[in-house]
Amino acid sequence: MTETTARRPRRVDLIVVGGGAAGLLAAISAARTWQEQAAPPQSGSLNILILEKNDKIGRKILATGNGRCNLTNALAVPAAYHGDDPRFCRGALHRYDVSATLDFFLDLGLVCREEEDGRIYPVCQQAAAVVDLLTHEIERLHISIQTQQTVTSLAPVEPVFLGSQPLEKAPHWRLGLADGQILDATCVILATGGQASPNLGSDGSGYRLAQPLGHRLVEPLPALVQLTTAGRKTVSMSGIRVECGLTLVLGNQEIGRESGEVLFTDYGLSGIPVLQLSRTVSVSLQENSVEPLRIWLDLLPEWTEAAIEARIAHRISQNPALHLSDLLTGLVHRKIGGFIVRETLHANLDQPVRTLSPRQVKSLARTIKQLELTVTGTRDFSQAQVTAGGLDCRDFLPDCLESRLKPGLFAAGELLDIDGDCGGFNLQWAWSSGLLAGASAARLLTRLRS
Ligand SMILES: Cc1cc2nc3c(=O)[nH]c(=O)nc-3n(C[C@H](O)[C@H](O)[C@H](O)COP(=O)(O)OP(=O)(O)OC[C@H]3O[C@@H](n4cnc5c(N)ncnc54)[C@H](O)[C@@H]3O)c2cc1C
Repeated sequence: MTETTARRPRRVDLIVVGGGAAGLLAAISAARTWQEQAAPPQSGSLNILILEKNDKIGRKILATGNGRCNLTNALAVPAAYHGDDPRFCRGALHRYDVSATLDFFLDLGLVCREEEDGRIYPVCQQAAAVVDLLTHEIERLHISIQTQQTVTSLAPVEPVFLGSQPLEKAPHWRLGLADGQILDATCVILATGGQASPNLGSDGSGYRLAQPLGHRLVEPLPALVQLTTAGRKTVSMSGIRVECGLTLVLGNQEIGRESGEVLFTDYGLSGIPVLQLSRTVSVSLQENSVEPLRIWLDLLPEWTEAAIEARIAHRISQNPALHLSDLLTGLVHRKIGGFIVRETLHANLDQPVRTLSPRQVKSLARTIKQLELTVTGTRDFSQAQVTAGGLDCRDFLPDCLESRLKPGLFAAGELLDIDGDCGGFNLQWAWSSGLLAGASAARLLTRLRS
């Protein structure tokens, strides 16, 4: 063996960087596509390797849906997705839609059920079952996995020439790992996730691998994350949950509207409708730091302001000696009632309610319909469920997810500048884009081998 061949890095057909939802589906899809294409016997099997920095694959999947895995959503159509060019997601979502995804998982043995708002979960209510079934399929397809391996560099290697003839049809890829290993691959799929919840592995390293190759980055921002509000106003209501209408207002313009259960916290607001608005908050604060950003909470959405005003006036006439602290009891949570009275009237809560003027009663009803909090921002990536932004989709082909800049390089999942609403949409994007990237890489490998 010559010195040169002795030092040549190990070579595989396909390396998938990241063993999360997108990466696992990409590897399975590549292996199945290769088999289904009935590749000529002489072309042999496809050598696929998943590199995952965590000690286990699928750690984030285990955390999804509070451990139940909200696998997808019956309403997962392209309109539920965001990014600089959300149309980009259409290719993957049409090719591998919700029904194809459910068939894929049913074939593995996972039975699912639709719940409220189209959310779909495994009937066993266990995210661990999803990871187990994917692991069984990976083993069945003889896909290799190396965990505790962080990819730190990625570069194309130009074909070696024998005279004027290249020995290969295209450049291949060289990957450097944190432990010093070097690996070569004919194709690479980047599925490293975004920057949300870095404790689960996705720390933005995929951006750092792709950017030196010329890939553009749409600034990553936290999304599906709690909101922070000014003046510690929510502290006294911390822990209380209320069904609300929510309106997000920038300057004088409404920029978002949601409804659902809001949780008051020490730092501000949480709950699904709050998470839904967080992307708009992140983007607005990035684009506009001058105009105030406010949220209005309608604490009694099914009542008109006039009806609430009449209820309060009735209570005052019934019991004029009642203390202000008890005036709103029964209409809203007692702690919220106290907050509303203090915030609206700046009055002593021991005062009897008969001292209130009709104008003050009207103001209380108005505050119940429009409790205003100033939004200072979102919590950071450590608390976020997804990343808004990521690798610029303009640099990838939507029908195969291959890089327009570097042939043989593919990307899938949250790493790309696509994010979905709360409720199973983000995993659906990871599954669909992973399936598409894997199938596309296998087709390219077939062409290169023939
Ligand atoms: C707490 C929580 C709950 C959620 N619940 C839901 C839900 O119920 N439904 C839903 O649809 N979505 C949910 N999401 C969002 C969803 O989980 C993600 O959008 C989805 O998992 C993204 O998949 P991905 O494969 O693109 O990235 P990830 O799942 O982040 O996987 C990326 C993988 O790449 C690995 N990696 C990163 N860099 C490297 C590197 N350099 N070398 C090697 N490996 C690397 C990481 O360790 C990780 O395992 C939730 C997210 C969180 C944080």
